[in-house]
Amino acid sequence: MELMSRDNLPIKDLSRQVQGRLVPNIWEPISWIVNRIWYSDQFGAFKYYRGYTSENIHGMLFVCPGCGGVSCLPFISDNPKHDKWIPGGTILKPHLRPSILSAPAKGGCGWHGFLNHGYFELSPRE
Ligand SMILES: [Zn+2]
Repeated sequence: MELMSRDNLPIKDLSRQVQGRLVPNIWEPISWIVNRIWYSDQFGAFKYYRGYTSENIHGMLFVCPGCGGVSCLPFISDNPKHDKWIPGGTILKPHLRPSILSAPAKGGCGWHGFLNHGYFELSPRE
């Protein structure tokens, strides 16, 4: 049986595009996930995180539009092997490059798209 969200949407939908939404506490969506309660407005929820030793924003946590899982998008990382994203736009309507891929090889759902001025949208088909 396919898991459905409270508002009756399938949880996994790789074609889902959603308005991003800055939330004060990303752990709130995580607790929803643990409790297996999904709402459509959780998809695309995001918050910024800071470095341990500075007030600078070091990256973003977001709720995957494709599956509701929480992933991290570092802007700054001490580890050169980590992928990094370049932020633009505004705090409320951020713009990130390159694209976001929830890589199946790393346990992701396969959602692939862009965060364009606050909106999580699918990659244009090639
Ligand atoms: Zn996903």
